[in-house]
Amino acid sequence: MISSALILPEHCEAGASAAVIPVDIAAAKAIAAAIPVAETETLDLLGASGRVLAAEACASLNLPPFNASAMDGYAVKATSFTGQGPWRLKVTGRVAAGDTPTQSFDGAVRILTGAPVPQGFDTVVMQEKCRLDGDAIVIDQKPRAGQNVRIAGEDVRRGEHLLGTGDILKAHHLALLAGQGVTAIEVRRKVRVGLISTGTELREPGEPLHPGQIFNSNRVMLRASLDACRWAEVLDFGIVPDNREAIALALAEAATQCDAIITTGGVSAGEEDHVTWAVSSGGGMLDVMRVAMRPGKPVKVGKLGTTLFLGLPGNPNATLVTFRMIALPALRRLAGLSNNSPTWTQAVADFTYEKRPDRTEFVPVRLGTAGADGLPRLTMLGRGSSASLRAISQAEGIALLAPGLDRVEPGMRIVFEAI
Ligand code: AMP
Ligand code: MG
Repeated sequence: MISSALILPEHCEAGASAAVIPVDIAAAKAIAAAIPVAETETLDLLGASGRVLAAEACASLNLPPFNASAMDGYAVKATSFTGQGPWRLKVTGRVAAGDTPTQSFDGAVRILTGAPVPQGFDTVVMQEKCRLDGDAIVIDQKPRAGQNVRIAGEDVRRGEHLLGTGDILKAHHLALLAGQGVTAIEVRRKVRVGLISTGTELREPGEPLHPGQIFNSNRVMLRASLDACRWAEVLDFGIVPDNREAIALALAEAATQCDAIITTGGVSAGEEDHVTWAVSSGGGMLDVMRVAMRPGKPVKVGKLGTTLFLGLPGNPNATLVTFRMIALPALRRLAGLSNNSPTWTQAVADFTYEKRPDRTEFVPVRLGTAGADGLPRLTMLGRGSSASLRAISQAEGIALLAPGLDRVEPGMRIVFEAI
């Protein structure tokens, strides 16, 4: 269950009295409300791509499993190189990748990349440094003992930690597991995320648009964002008009099927903002947060039974920013990921901007070429208005302008998240 300090009872609506909290505290509250799904499933490696590892993976094999040649060349014994060069060594055999040499060799052995280094040999001289002379090779330069040999277990040692619980399985992780001979792996089950777009004015693209109506931008934006998360499965409950009972009904329906519900719109304090009432009437617990952020401000976190509830503002830019900064970290925890926070990259501002020092502002940015310090220069698009679709559509990142700061000037170090 969730801590009682987190959740305010129904009558604690956000009013003048509700404290304004920093965005990281809002995210921490949302994360704290998310209890990771416990169920797991075992999937073949490819099917597990992008999923969340349910248990630590340890090595059962040494990699490489045998001493292997890192080059095409000749296997030699370091002890053969006494006195002054050049050295002439008779070639007594040949091993290629996949061979299992059993006989013993002497002198030098022709060896190809990935082949086992024969017993008694310890060094590989690359072919470019050997001259062929009949059935022998001539080497002018004394090789370093052990060069070009990958020792068994030097990459991965049996028993050692490979991947941790809560890691997302990316292509290169799967390569490591495959290298261990793993065929299937245990991952957390997908989290089921319900989406509800609230707003009487909303129509889906393709439907006729009457005066006063707008098309639903948030639905496809959140769906696409979640589709990119292989650990999530979206259940789309469409548009629900600004009607208390309709929203309550949709929430109740979604709560029976989902681990989390995200609503957009209806979270401000207007009389058509019914989400608070709908959550509370369904017996839900709700924390109405006023977050010191722009865009964003009103965000709700709560529980409907065991289902996590995340109520985001309706303006698309505010939806995007609150989704990435508050909702997504909570969903990532729900999915069992060990790392929940956004990924920030250092950059340098190439713009001037006056901001309010009492809040975090998130502004859409484009990335310019890096300066001598290697950091990209950021130009700002628009002014981060909540309703602006154009600016975010042109953005390559969202820059975070920290609280305390009242003015951004060219040359100032800031961070951004790539989008
Ligand atoms: P609300 O949070 O319901 O007060 O909505 C704030 C603003 O965002 C209003 O102008 C809404 O029309 C607009 N809005 C709400 N939901 C959406 C949506 N799904 N797509 C585009 N705009 C929306
Ligand atoms: Mg609305």
